[in-house]
Amino acid sequence: MLTPKENTPQHSRASLLLEKISADARSTANWTGRPVFDDVVMRALELVPRHAFVPDQDQALAYANRPLSIGHGQTISQPYIVALMTVLLELEPGHRVLEVGTGCGYQTAILAELVDQVFTIEVVSELAAKAKEKLNYLGYNTIDFQTGNGREGWLEKAPFQAILVTAASGSIPLALVDQLDLGGRMVIPIGSQEGTQNLVVLVKNKTGEITKNEVLPVSFVPLV
Ligand code: SAH
Repeated sequence: MLTPKENTPQHSRASLLLEKISADARSTANWTGRPVFDDVVMRALELVPRHAFVPDQDQALAYANRPLSIGHGQTISQPYIVALMTVLLELEPGHRVLEVGTGCGYQTAILAELVDQVFTIEVVSELAAKAKEKLNYLGYNTIDFQTGNGREGWLEKAPFQAILVTAASGSIPLALVDQLDLGGRMVIPIGSQEGTQNLVVLVKNKTGEITKNEVLPVSFVPLV
């Protein structure tokens, strides 16, 4: 885990970004029911150096509250959305978390700041290799990586108390529902076309009953 570095240019850019995320949290509270994001999540957003995950040509925008391209037709998500999805997972340190769609690894680092065990799957092998190298370099040594189709989940490592899917699917992959622990939460963008997707929170209660809540209209790249 990283230690805070106060008074650096990145730190002041990160502080401004946190203010923007908080403003977005307030203005979307009617949908999300979360006008204030948890301190521990905001602290993780403050600690993880987003510029380390952003391509060279976009360094000036590294702390802007917007998605950016990372090549291979993929993106690093908007920081507000990363924060919201993380808040919705209601993580506790002992949770085992599965992330589908490692991408550049930024969201993976946020998760690793909050829980002891993160498992992440990426279908594009070049992205998976780059993310792994970057996260190891930054000192995140508790993340398990897999290259492959995340729709199948990661059976040997299940059950997970939280599952986060960072690409949009037409429907909720059943393997992921099966691998969610009793009392677990899944956050996933649902909808096949950009512009008509909704961020969905699926909860499996202690008796295995499933409830689904649509939280917010969103725009994600498709889950292949
Ligand atoms: N989590 C990233 C966002 C990644 S964008 C962040 O921190 O910003 C979504 C990622 O999901 C892309 O890298 C894409 O290649 C990957 N992806 C799409 N379909 C997938 C699948 N079926 N299994 C695993 N990864 C997938």
